[in-house]
Amino acid sequence: MINLDDPQKFRTLVGQAHQVAMNMLRPISRRYDRAEHEYPKELDLLAAMIDGLSESGAGEGAGAVGVRRDDSAERDPGVKRSVNGAHLASVMSIAEMCWGDVGLLLSMPRQGLGNSAIASVANDEQAKRFEGVWAGMAITEPGTGSDSANIRTTATLDSDTGCYVLNGEKIFVTAGDRCDAVVVWATLDRSLGRAAIKSFVVPKGTPGMNVERLEHKLGIRASDTATIRFENCRVPAENLLGSPEIDPRQGFAGAMATFDNTRPLVAAMAVGCARASLDLTRELLEQVGVEVDYDRPAITQSAAAARFLQMEADWEAAHLLTLQAAWMADNRKPNSLEASMAKAKAGRVGSDITLGCVELASSVGYSETELLEKWARDSKILDIFEGTQQIQQLIVARRILGLSSAELK
Ligand SMILES: Cc1cc2nc3c(=O)[nH]c(=O)nc-3n(C[C@H](O)[C@H](O)[C@H](O)COP(=O)(O)OP(=O)(O)OC[C@H]3O[C@@H](n4cnc5c(N)ncnc54)[C@H](O)[C@@H]3O)c2cc1C
Repeated sequence: MINLDDPQKFRTLVGQAHQVAMNMLRPISRRYDRAEHEYPKELDLLAAMIDGLSESGAGEGAGAVGVRRDDSAERDPGVKRSVNGAHLASVMSIAEMCWGDVGLLLSMPRQGLGNSAIASVANDEQAKRFEGVWAGMAITEPGTGSDSANIRTTATLDSDTGCYVLNGEKIFVTAGDRCDAVVVWATLDRSLGRAAIKSFVVPKGTPGMNVERLEHKLGIRASDTATIRFENCRVPAENLLGSPEIDPRQGFAGAMATFDNTRPLVAAMAVGCARASLDLTRELLEQVGVEVDYDRPAITQSAAAARFLQMEADWEAAHLLTLQAAWMADNRKPNSLEASMAKAKAGRVGSDITLGCVELASSVGYSETELLEKWARDSKILDIFEGTQQIQQLIVARRILGLSSAELK
């Protein structure tokens, strides 16, 4: 028998995340949507609580900090390892937190997408050294978005000092102003293609690294989005994540390992935000006498109820794909295809559902008395960053057809 219930062992964690979302995030949601670029100081307390849970082991997967895959031959006892099911726990708790507020989740100290990159590709020594560091992720450049293999930021080894010297500009860095460090993608040698792209942990305050401006955005306004310039910015060689070797056979493997971890997280954000819209819309429909009946065919119900049921079916598909991608990671199965499927489905239906809920609630949906209009604005980014809808579909097609990126562009 197929059991589609959430795994029982995560119910406490998910329940706690839901309480936090309801009691700590929702009450400040509108305030920081309006006060763009103001740091939500309430998150410091929340981050400390999550740190405490993680220390005790009770909160593994409580945030977006990323999960370390435990497949190295030599295990350093000083490096925290993931408990079984940590990917699943992460996506489930993130969905709950985003039921509260996506922008605030993206502003949580020490829970940046760069933390997932560190968890994915750092060696044991680096994992220990960067533990507790809040890391943003800087891939996108003025001339390079979806085509991330084309980045122009360079990292040149200065053999006299043993430092890499970074030069280039990164745009749209989530938490780029507030975080402690940024994981920067740079090429060691552009002529060697994607295999030469490596990621570097650059601590804030490193000379030559300057935050130039913050973006004004449609949604996730609680989250800062920065442009950062690197001019002869020197980082120790030990801050290159993973191996410095340029191995054409490995290609983009390190980078892709990061995406396999982060895409299910972003899918979970979309699932959580869409769930929030559905829950509130059902309440609003009930208030005006529209009951959604799960035991009767949609065609026999009102148009509003039928539309709602169709959106819930889309939501369920996105939800299950997200859980599947995380479950595969927990069970050490390659999940690139499933991570992209989850991100594509959840990103798309997340936008459709949140906007559909605005439509169903009409004037109430469009006004600021409720959060429906905000959730529709917030969810759009989840279909854009960490690879757009179109790019995820391209990846899925390549994987299914067995074609390389050169063969299917
Ligand atoms: C609020 C926000 C936060 C962000 N945070 C981060 C972050 O933390 N770190 C980071 O590195 N980046 C971040 N980004 C950047 C984001 O990842 C990019 O915007 C995204 O990858 C798309 O790149 P682009 O905007 O250059 O669009 P483009 O790549 O120029 O794409 C434009 C359009 O063309 C489509 N397209 C492109 N190539 C193809 C193709 N081959 N086939 C079909 N369609 C195609 C795209 O899907 C898109 O619809 C953020 C962006 C925003 C808006």
